[in-house]
Amino acid sequence: MNNQELNEKINKMNNLVELHLHLDGALSINNCKKIAKIQNIDIPSDNEILKIMTVKDGCRDLNEFLTKFAFPMSLLQTSEGIKNAVKNLEDELIEQGIIYAEIRFAPQLHTKSGLNQEEVVISAIEGQNLSKLKSNLILCCMRGNNNHDENMETIRIAKKYLGKGVSAIDLAGAEASYKTANYEDIFRYAEELGIPYTIHAGEADGPSSVYDAIRFGSKRIGHGVRSIEDPNLVKIIAQKDITLEVCPTSNICTSVYNKIIDIPIKKFLDKGVKITINTDDPAVCDTRLKEELKLVANAFNLTYEDILKLQLNAIKASFASREVKEEVINMILKNII
Ligand SMILES: [Zn+2]
Repeated sequence: MNNQELNEKINKMNNLVELHLHLDGALSINNCKKIAKIQNIDIPSDNEILKIMTVKDGCRDLNEFLTKFAFPMSLLQTSEGIKNAVKNLEDELIEQGIIYAEIRFAPQLHTKSGLNQEEVVISAIEGQNLSKLKSNLILCCMRGNNNHDENMETIRIAKKYLGKGVSAIDLAGAEASYKTANYEDIFRYAEELGIPYTIHAGEADGPSSVYDAIRFGSKRIGHGVRSIEDPNLVKIIAQKDITLEVCPTSNICTSVYNKIIDIPIKKFLDKGVKITINTDDPAVCDTRLKEELKLVANAFNLTYEDILKLQLNAIKASFASREVKEEVINMILKNII
């Protein structure tokens, strides 16, 4: 099968799974317009939105990348805004051939207009229930100064809504400035409450960040690509059956790597590491899941069977219930025919 045939086959896939997707980074211009209208918020022209929200030529680093979220975040501060943003996003994902997605956001960043974290999460669950997509919410704790109480509150809310729309917690934000090692108590608390987690690590920071995430018991790592800098760590990841949520275009946007071919996707696969392919922030990075799958298939000469395997890795590592996992696995396997 040549590249063109493979791309066409990927375009036709309609049983896709996406594990690493941030709500604020996934707001399409259309979604921004719809939720701005509902909230009577004036927003700039499409061109201006593209300029302030998307990354065209890459960023210096993750810190500059994170400034791109100010605009979408300003539209996600009310119940109506959050509820409709989640509903619209999920409907868009269905149109893109996705059948199961995990959508993440940090409740503590949506409280600027007076909502509390629980109200934020309830609004997101309401939006989730308005769409037919199978989905789960991942609540992000944030790296930063003086927000320990907010992070603990996020975990308490995750526990309250676990299995009712919420499936896990995460740690997001500026990884290089705020080391993973400083957040051990968060994950010990989550572990105590029986809340699953994934941790952003090995993106802006190196192997030590991933070692810490594994030490905290994480079975999934957000990005994790820089684990490749330490061969022993790669071995541990493979042995412990840890899944990496790789987000190729995002890594280019944040200047972790210069080119797709530099991302160690093939190296991980060759060493038996389970990886999944994700968009991270599709609106900010101007991408979609099928684009990411084609990108890696073409760059690393992957076969259609390899792509299906990446998708099976995703649903198997997901935080979905056993029933949903079985159902989705069967649907993915139908793509083989
Ligand atoms: Zn992310």
